[in-house]
Amino acid sequence: MVFEILDKKNKSHEQVVFCLDRKVNLKAIISIHSTSLGPALGGCRMFPYETENQALEDVLRLSEAMSHKAAVAGLPLGGGKSVIIGDPDKDKTTEMLKSFGRYIESLKGKYVVSKDMGITTTDLQCVAKECNYVMGRPLRQGGIGDPSRWTAQGVFYGIQKVVKWKLKKDSLKGLRVLIQGLGAVGYNLLEFLYKEGVEIFAFDIKQEILNDVKSKFPKVHVISKNEVFSTACDIFAPCSISFVINKENLEKLQCSIVAGGANNQLHSSAMDNKLMEKGILYVPDFVINGGGLIYASSCISPKKSEDWVNKKIKDIPKTIQSICERSASENVGTAEIAVQIAKERIEHSRIGVGA
Ligand code: NAD
Repeated sequence: MVFEILDKKNKSHEQVVFCLDRKVNLKAIISIHSTSLGPALGGCRMFPYETENQALEDVLRLSEAMSHKAAVAGLPLGGGKSVIIGDPDKDKTTEMLKSFGRYIESLKGKYVVSKDMGITTTDLQCVAKECNYVMGRPLRQGGIGDPSRWTAQGVFYGIQKVVKWKLKKDSLKGLRVLIQGLGAVGYNLLEFLYKEGVEIFAFDIKQEILNDVKSKFPKVHVISKNEVFSTACDIFAPCSISFVINKENLEKLQCSIVAGGANNQLHSSAMDNKLMEKGILYVPDFVINGGGLIYASSCISPKKSEDWVNKKIKDIPKTIQSICERSASENVGTAEIAVQIAKERIEHSRIGVGA
């Protein structure tokens, strides 16, 4: 089955590495989609996948999206991603992370690991004990810190842009935004939106996070899992797991815009058209959530200034605007347009025109 998935989905991936270290309960997959524009920089996700096939499907799509993300942001990076199969709250150990680091080291810099769901900057410090190719260790250890605030900043700018485009509003004040997942990205996004007077509905599977939100942001409506897709709102902002926009959830959605930080938001490419048919504007995930990658790339030699990072992140809404315009004029889904733009930029960079 694994080989069937690889054969079907992996036609364009450069390398897929299966990591198995029984002594430390490590089961992980590293997927390198492309290194044609540079090293494949991408986060590691730790998640209790129900099957190994699900983990493989996720990592293949996540790594391809990283190639597209770097290309639309105009960064000299390839696309890669990794997943560790397990519950980050129960199964993670230092020895497991170190073993994972040895697998990454064996790739000699083709893949550079950073943070994704279920992995923290401290975890990356453990990985770095065995591996030189790590971005996102804690600042106090000499690392670049957590890029998630930059990711959330880009999502915030992107939301401002599509609110103007779709809802014809200059301000977010009073709009209703539903955030699914209040981890590193979702929590930061909540802070940005709260300051703007947005009416926020929020859900996370961790009760302690919800308690924290209730105490620090008293105006936020904390909702239950069942209410995530059925609550009427202007913007639905997925900020956690993959594939949340599927056939079932699509029927329930009551929003005008889907714009959030999560990767792999669409269960399949068919969802792109279905959202458009429903009159919902989908902001392609790998475009709106590129802020963290922009920040991480600024830390690679030759290093770039904070001004450079800010300027690049401010380009995110410009790219979103052109995707919206092209989607409207060609009557093609925004996700498809975004992939076309990414592929065009990859092709142009390969032959040395544009960047
Ligand atoms: P995180 O682990 O810090 O937070 C994820 C949160 O989602 C956790 O609080 C977890 O409890 C919650 N969660 C898990 N399953 C859930 C569910 N079914 N419903 C609601 N909440 C659920 O991860 P993160 O770094 O914030 O990443 C979140 C998403 O953003 C991921 O899809 C990731 O790939 C994407 N992303 C992150 C970055 C970044 O800079 N961290 C950059 C680009 C994209």
